[in-house]
Amino acid sequence: MTEPLSVGVAGGGIGGLTTALSLLAAGFDVHVYEQARELSEVGAGIQVSPNASRILHRLGLADELAGLGVRPFAWHQRRWDDGRTLLRTPLADEVVAAFGFPHYQMHRADLLTTLARHVPAERVHVGHRLTGFADHGDRVSLAFENGETAEVDVLVGADGIHSTVREQLLGPESPHFTGCVAYRGLVPAERLAALGLPVEAQVWMGPGRHFVHYYVQSGRLVNFVALIDQDTWTRESWTDPGNIDDARAAYEGWHPQVLDILGSVEETFIWALFDRLPLERWSVGRVTLLGDACHPMLPFMAQGAAQAIEDAAALTACLAETTDVPAALERYEAVRLPRASRLQAMSANNKIRFHLPDGPEQEARDAEMATRSTDWSIRAIAWVYGHDAGVIEDPQD
Ligand SMILES: Cc1cc2nc3c(=O)[nH]c(=O)nc-3n(C[C@H](O)[C@H](O)[C@H](O)COP(=O)(O)OP(=O)(O)OC[C@H]3O[C@@H](n4cnc5c(N)ncnc54)[C@H](O)[C@@H]3O)c2cc1C
Repeated sequence: MTEPLSVGVAGGGIGGLTTALSLLAAGFDVHVYEQARELSEVGAGIQVSPNASRILHRLGLADELAGLGVRPFAWHQRRWDDGRTLLRTPLADEVVAAFGFPHYQMHRADLLTTLARHVPAERVHVGHRLTGFADHGDRVSLAFENGETAEVDVLVGADGIHSTVREQLLGPESPHFTGCVAYRGLVPAERLAALGLPVEAQVWMGPGRHFVHYYVQSGRLVNFVALIDQDTWTRESWTDPGNIDDARAAYEGWHPQVLDILGSVEETFIWALFDRLPLERWSVGRVTLLGDACHPMLPFMAQGAAQAIEDAAALTACLAETTDVPAALERYEAVRLPRASRLQAMSANNKIRFHLPDGPEQEARDAEMATRSTDWSIRAIAWVYGHDAGVIEDPQD
């Protein structure tokens, strides 16, 4: 019997842990190297759409997701001032009927902890910041800041938007500030009981900004994201404690529901949103990239983590098909890169669409949404939500 391929995964975020779980389930010898002293996620929510839940269910997480997640009844896009419905897409039984798997809203820490619970502890090495690697053709050696080293057959860079692996593989290139910041936070649902918020993901769209809220943690918390156009970002940090008064001021004149949610917030964090143009390649030799390391995207399709989860399933399927590692990684890149690039572009375009000032373009957008054939409507989203990334089909020429 031949030894299973050994895979080193740099980064223990949602992408890295899903990759580890998926590869372990397929019989590979996997180790995750995470720079932080412990695995952690920000205090915020995440949408786990059916294209991602399909993969997580297959990895045995269905019961935990159902227990910790919230299954919303709809994506509900509304107008900023009078709250008029622009498009309401049913999500609960309708997505299961259409795509076979549920849509969940989750606390990010709940998702990460669930993934981590299924990866044996001896395979996750915290306090291991990868500083460099060398691809020797038949193996890859890894070097860590703490002085340790490792040898693997395959290296996967799942080390986020600042990826060290990406920089060494493809050269330095800074991500660019998208002109948008996000305030995020969680509010105890009981504090908002008077609003009677429905179990929906509500997306309020208005001039230069939008606002999203939904329940997480079995309905105990309401997650909010306030996304605001802003010309410059001068601070060094990309994530800071935010001043909630600034966020409230930015939504002056908006619908009372938005203002009431912001009025109940005690703590918020602010993110400068960065992205990169789609890359031409993700894989060189025995090294490849995954998740935000290769396709960071604005959160305007709620697909960043879902695409990392898809990457994990596709990478596993490609590596399982052949012992020729570089060929498998090229195939992974060929099936994944066009899809992720398309979502990067759609997410960037939604920054313009969602934030249109009132006027003819906004009216045309609203009229198109009223046809129920755009955004998250079942028809428009089928190519995203209905995809099975674990089934490898050669891309069309
Ligand atoms: C406001 C906002 C809302 C979002 N909402 C959604 C949503 O609803 N649905 C969705 O699917 N996506 C959403 N996203 C996108 C999603 O958060 C990201 O795409 C996803 O978390 C990326 O996962 P990742 O594992 O690739 O990277 P990361 O989560 O960045 O993980 C990278 C990991 O690598 C580690 N690391 C970095 N460098 C090294 C190194 N040199 N050595 C070892 N370890 C290293 C880091 O510490 C980190 O743990 C949202 C993003 C934002 C900003």
